[in-house]
Amino acid sequence: MRLPAPPQHQPEFGHDALVVCDNLVRIYQSEGVEVQALQGLDLLVHEGEMVALVGASGSGKSTLLNVLAAVDSPTAGRARVAGHDLVDMPRREQVHYRRHVVGFVRQQTARNLVPYLSARQIVDLPLSIAGRPRHERRGRADELLGLLGVGHCADRRPHEMSGGEQQRVAIAVALANAPRLLLADEPTGELDSETAAEVFAALRTVNHELGTTVVVVTHDAEVSGQVARTVAIRDGRTSSEVLRDHAGAGGPGTAVEFAVMDRAGRVQLPREYREALDLTRRVRLALAEDHVQIRSDRGEGA
Ligand code: ADP
Ligand code: MG
Repeated sequence: MRLPAPPQHQPEFGHDALVVCDNLVRIYQSEGVEVQALQGLDLLVHEGEMVALVGASGSGKSTLLNVLAAVDSPTAGRARVAGHDLVDMPRREQVHYRRHVVGFVRQQTARNLVPYLSARQIVDLPLSIAGRPRHERRGRADELLGLLGVGHCADRRPHEMSGGEQQRVAIAVALANAPRLLLADEPTGELDSETAAEVFAALRTVNHELGTTVVVVTHDAEVSGQVARTVAIRDGRTSSEVLRDHAGAGGPGTAVEFAVMDRAGRVQLPREYREALDLTRRVRLALAEDHVQIRSDRGEGA
């Protein structure tokens, strides 16, 4: 069979993506023990997308978000967001990046907000640090709190708000300086499911109304079902993706699950498939007209 010739000038991996993770590795050393939190992770996110990241505890989700937020640096590989190279970013650029390019919402509601300020003052903080004029700042805080459905909390301090309201204010804070990328690490992890749905709806509003690209870590399958694209992380790698049509608009839409192939051509077969055909260390591959077969190495025609 004739294979098509490879294109002459292959554009760089993810050249048109807002977020590019290319063979990303993060190794932690603690007390002589090495933990590979990310083991060659590939991920592309395009401008305007909303992506849910799911995966077991310890699979590397927070590590990935910390790298994208530039609060942690990868050990190897490439990470780029909106043209900023996160691998060796100079200190000055790091400060600008964290302030203007990316917004970050953490899981623990308490850690996101200053306890003695009102919501309006908390949203104002990153604006005044960025040196925005006063008239612009006042309007901005109220506009964001309104968009997130917490306009009524403008004069309240965190202890006077519910957990869901606190997280929506935290999203407003993260958006204050109009970042292109909003990262949220299990923003609904400490909330009951009804409140979690409200916070998630607020993230979708941000994505629709402001066009902000959103990457949100969640373990809530119900919540991730409302997002067009869900990426599963397993052992520090992206392992599968679910894409949905018309997510959210009157039901979950049709969902198609894909395995993720990395740039070296590696694909992880689901455990059920391996067990069903007793596939172990070696398998037979065969190229057909429009698909690839994978068979056990036992059996006929050895
Ligand atoms: P997740 O957010 O998916 O639960 P993490 O990214 O927090 O996973 O962690 C991935 C792996 O890296 C885990 O095995 C975790 O124990 C380890 N890890 C995370 N942070 C550190 C650290 N600062 N030092 C050592 N190991 C860490
Ligand atoms: Mg985590």
